[in-house]
Amino acid sequence: MRLSQMLFVTLREDPAEAEIPSHKLLLRAGYIRRIGSGIYAYLPLMWRVLKKVSQIVREEMDATGAQECLLPQLQPADLWRESGRWDTYTQAEGIMFAMTDRQQRELGLGPTHEEVITTIAKDMIRSYRQLPVHLYQIQTKFRDEIRPRFGLMRGREFIMKDGYSFHTNEESLKKTYQDMAQAYSNMLRRSGLQFRAVDADSGAIGGSGSQEFMVLAEAGEDEVLYTEDGQYAANVEKAVSMPADAEPSPFATFEKRETPGTETIDKLCKFLKCSPTQVVKNVLYQAVYDNGITVLVLVSIRGDQEVNQVKLLNELTKLAGNYQAKTVLFLTVPDAEAQRKWAAKSLPLGYMAPDVADDYIAGSKEVNSKFLRLVDRTAVDLTNFVTGSNESGYHVVGANWNKEFPLPATVVGVRTAKKGDRAVHNPEQTLQSARGIEVGHIFQLGTKYSQAMGATYTSEQGEEMPFMMGCYGVGVSRLAQSAVEQSYDKDGIIWPVAIAPYHAIISIPNISDAQQVEVAEKLYAELNQSGIETLLDDRDERAGVKFKDADLIGIPYRIVPGRSLKAGKVEVVERATHKSHEILIDEVNSTLKQWIEAAVS
Ligand code: ATP
Ligand code: MG
Repeated sequence: MRLSQMLFVTLREDPAEAEIPSHKLLLRAGYIRRIGSGIYAYLPLMWRVLKKVSQIVREEMDATGAQECLLPQLQPADLWRESGRWDTYTQAEGIMFAMTDRQQRELGLGPTHEEVITTIAKDMIRSYRQLPVHLYQIQTKFRDEIRPRFGLMRGREFIMKDGYSFHTNEESLKKTYQDMAQAYSNMLRRSGLQFRAVDADSGAIGGSGSQEFMVLAEAGEDEVLYTEDGQYAANVEKAVSMPADAEPSPFATFEKRETPGTETIDKLCKFLKCSPTQVVKNVLYQAVYDNGITVLVLVSIRGDQEVNQVKLLNELTKLAGNYQAKTVLFLTVPDAEAQRKWAAKSLPLGYMAPDVADDYIAGSKEVNSKFLRLVDRTAVDLTNFVTGSNESGYHVVGANWNKEFPLPATVVGVRTAKKGDRAVHNPEQTLQSARGIEVGHIFQLGTKYSQAMGATYTSEQGEEMPFMMGCYGVGVSRLAQSAVEQSYDKDGIIWPVAIAPYHAIISIPNISDAQQVEVAEKLYAELNQSGIETLLDDRDERAGVKFKDADLIGIPYRIVPGRSLKAGKVEVVERATHKSHEILIDEVNSTLKQWIEAAVS
């Protein structure tokens, strides 16, 4: 491609809409253009990168025996009602764009495809003899993200590879899951990324395993906790660890103390001169179940610990049956306005005890009239502890479970693991923290969808059995941008060779110099012909401008037919290192071939 004929527009200034380096650079270098919130055009250079990433993904998937297909993006609401996800996806998470057609039929734009694929399996797979099967597609997904940001990192329209596998038994599912873990590692390694596979939350589905593939970068929205010995890595949403030991309590007798202005643990501990490990704090949450019932949840946890909302949500989902519900739609910390809807009188916030009375709740058809009281494991063994008194401005000290306060019947593990905690597998290892961008997620689903949708096959014994399923996603467009997030410098993007839009760019310093043009044209034809994807910067611009643009768009090798032509040579500059080589014109092709092969192997 000749730059003179290309839609090639670069910006000198950082665009105001972008916060992180990769987003700024992709906009500045003319790879993407914002069309609306979370909606981007992939311009020609970007599209080449995306095709390269897709091709790597495709090759790794095909190598495992998975088969490519293309599923509809328009999905009938009925399918989502069968799986029970229509309400959650259109209301609670609100992530599915939903619409009504002219015949008043409801439809959603696919955010993911479990429902569609399960219906196909239900129709087409009759016998155990047809299993296992694994189908995948590479396609645009739609999600009405509440906070689209960082360009392609969190778009409302983005490209994903999603695959779904069907099995007769867990062993077969595990085998495919392992194959996927390997395929995902291969994809990321081949794309030139530094990454880590981590344990991930698998929601309330239970027992099944799930792993995320995190590209390590400061701008990552996820926190990864890991140990130096390489034995443990998990998303903080899922991570477990050993909490610090509690310090023995200085309070020997139970009494109520005036503690004015101590609504935070910090202020309280300063005032009482005690350790937060001697405090039981009581945190209020509000859960709305899918049948519309609001439940007020009081979590008692040790004062130095924080509640992990993902873990709490999983616990509350397990308890849904107690409220004749299936799942939780919303989980929030109720603000003043939310409290007004159900509080019978104003709550002693900051001073609540584990036994705060149920008559604070004005129960109704929609609001459960009793607190759901949960206690985290970190608070169960505390003795002579400090906690609220249910009266503003007062706490109690020297309290004990089952003496002054009944121990809540439901003990849960909902604390947040954090950097510096001791690891469970080896207490001598402490957890380290890193930021990560989730580019892939693999998941053992089990029979969740097949059971809900009645998708069964006939087993060898002649029984109707629900399919065992796995699903595997990788964000193709997010992956491409994370490569930039990991690889750039002050001059611009440094693409890993394997996914660069072009391998080389020939920048003609002066287009009115006939010899320069001649050599450039010759190399341009020769390189492209031999499979080295090459751009020709034949614009009537100053050499400096051309070099700056080449650096900005991040093409791995820049070829300059300049001063060294006298010696029958051109200059070749490596983008990543700015290292310059004088190479005989006749040897440019073979040299680049070697470099490219070495870089992508
Ligand atoms: P996140 O936690 O970042 O919202 P997710 O867990 O909802 O992502 P999955 O449903 O697991 O995402 O989707 C598979 C992959 O698709 C993710 O690992 C990610 O790479 C990509 N992805 C998900 N949401 C987006 C988005 N809004 N924009 C771009 N890529 C996305
Ligand atoms: Mg995910």
